[in-house]
Amino acid sequence: MEEILVGIHMHTRYSDGNGSHADLLKAALKAGLDAIIVTDHNVLVQDAETYLQEKRRKVLLLVGEEVHDQTLKGGGSHLLVFGHNRELAQYAPNPQALINQANSNHGLSFIAHPYEDTLPAFGEAEFGWRNWEVKGFTGIELWNQLSEFKTRSQTLPGAIRNALFPRGMMEAPLERTVKLWDELLLKHKQPVVAIAGNDAHNLIIHKGPIKVHIYTYEFQFRSFSNHVMVPNLLKGEINQDRAMIYEALANGHTYLANDQIHSARGFRYTVNTKDGTFILGDRVDSSSGLTFQVRLPIHGHIRLFKDGKMIKESWDREILTHITTEPGIYRVEVYQDYLGKHRAWIFSNPIYAF
Ligand SMILES: [Zn+2]
Ligand SMILES: [Zn+2]
Repeated sequence: MEEILVGIHMHTRYSDGNGSHADLLKAALKAGLDAIIVTDHNVLVQDAETYLQEKRRKVLLLVGEEVHDQTLKGGGSHLLVFGHNRELAQYAPNPQALINQANSNHGLSFIAHPYEDTLPAFGEAEFGWRNWEVKGFTGIELWNQLSEFKTRSQTLPGAIRNALFPRGMMEAPLERTVKLWDELLLKHKQPVVAIAGNDAHNLIIHKGPIKVHIYTYEFQFRSFSNHVMVPNLLKGEINQDRAMIYEALANGHTYLANDQIHSARGFRYTVNTKDGTFILGDRVDSSSGLTFQVRLPIHGHIRLFKDGKMIKESWDREILTHITTEPGIYRVEVYQDYLGKHRAWIFSNPIYAF
């Protein structure tokens, strides 16, 4: 297994971002990502998928879209779709039809920023999800950097501080979104894959005569990504590399990490059963016993959850082991102290034991 870093959810001038595909590629290469998935609003940009190569490093740009109903009063219900090959924005008024179309066009679909707050200081609305009866989507955006910024910036001084010192802004995925994820996992009785979304726009904030560049593409890519477990590193052949990344994401072979705190590369979450060793996202048979193991690249505060409840934790360790025969949905969170706060560092996708 190899570990690649994939940035998901970003905008260019094709919608409301302040940059180009070339700007995204340059920023991703500088930030050390292996691939990025661009999701402009309601447009599936054609013939833009490409690599940027520099010396021995390369980064792959893939194109999906963020679909929403532009006639919906107040907005909201944004769906990230990628892996499909035809425009699906016309299905936006009916989110279930949109998800069904994504599925029948070999697309993956993720509910973007399920919850967030308005940003009163900058007159920004909130665009949470409105249609909770939907089924059949691949997963949810558990951690969205822009939603976290909006939600943690409810006063003007707070908004200015978080705009100018973004490193100190990120604390954890929003609690209500994590709770929602646990509920969806139990309700759907099938995998709900969690991803991290940068929602990068290369933002320019205008406040009177002042114009400030905040949350640049490169900053957002450095701070936050999806660590995707794949059979091999990117080969440089677009169709193969694209298929490999989308298959790993569809199967939940991925964890999200705030790499600003410390590179999470090397985090491993596995389970041993009579049938062998399995990784995050896998479904396993619990009948002959399960040995879960969490390993970190440096010590941290590890918390193991079963069906949404914490069942074990270890402080300042690099390893946590748990032996059981109980079926359930097991997932891991890891925390670190950084800039004076105990912050979420890693959120794993679950291992599903039946
Ligand atoms: Zn959105
Ligand atoms: Zn977006």
